[in-house]
Amino acid sequence: MLTRRSLIIGAASAGIFGANFAVGRNASASDSSNTPQGGLISTYKLGPVTLHCYMAPSASAVVTTQIIETPNQLHVIDTQFIQGLAMEARAYIDSLGKPVAGVYLSHWHPDHLLGAYQFADLPFITTADVRADCVKYKETFVKRKSQFGDTSPLVLPAGTLSTGEQDWDGFQVLVSQINDCESEHTLTFHLPEIGLMIVQDLMFNNAHAFPLGSHSNWINKLREIRETEGLKLLGCGHGLPATSGAITDSIAYLEFQKAVFGNQKDAESATSALMAEFPKFEGQSSLRFVENLYK
Ligand SMILES: [Zn+2]
Repeated sequence: MLTRRSLIIGAASAGIFGANFAVGRNASASDSSNTPQGGLISTYKLGPVTLHCYMAPSASAVVTTQIIETPNQLHVIDTQFIQGLAMEARAYIDSLGKPVAGVYLSHWHPDHLLGAYQFADLPFITTADVRADCVKYKETFVKRKSQFGDTSPLVLPAGTLSTGEQDWDGFQVLVSQINDCESEHTLTFHLPEIGLMIVQDLMFNNAHAFPLGSHSNWINKLREIRETEGLKLLGCGHGLPATSGAITDSIAYLEFQKAVFGNQKDAESATSALMAEFPKFEGQSSLRFVENLYK
């Protein structure tokens, strides 16, 4: 098992704050280190609560696992795409030395779910709707796992999570399900007392968004979220945690993407237009889905 010490490599010597990570609206981390597998762990202190973000390398679409640490507990959101990265995220979580009260799945997409096998001993839950999405798309998971040569058992979450107000170790948490944006159902986790919201794939920070779902509805939902009072830190599904100003950037990105799909004649020219407008963005592999829009 990896220890925390073995996971942490000095951020300065690893040069993680290269051009791609310096742009945009990244929140300032109190600590940040890269990992042996090319992941990046960054931590953000919000009074008594700490957000730890495990972010996969670019080859795994900078997908995140968010860890919310309260004085006595950990709550984990999303489980990575690749078993090795999920294992590394799990080792880091264990190194924090606090019980994991829950592991939550924000939406059904494989890049957030397939690593769940590494968390199979913990309570793994989502809403009934997200669970139903997982069951509906089971074949997609099986296909992806075989592409990776991943022979671990597929682990799906229980559908027992309720939306609405919850209490995590004395902190108010508002769990919401937002429908028909990047995926059919996406969960957000808002801790209003400390100004933290985990929005996962409603926002891609300095990274290309999957061109999926309803752009108009997605943009409208982000406009609603932008009105939330007191937001200081946003946990995004891809890319580093962001400041609230990143919501405006995400809306602008989605509006540009929507316009490109309206005015470019094929997938190749649409992809080139997006890469030309956002040359420093991570997650270029997410744009392979552009092809589906032109079939
Ligand atoms: Zn995703």
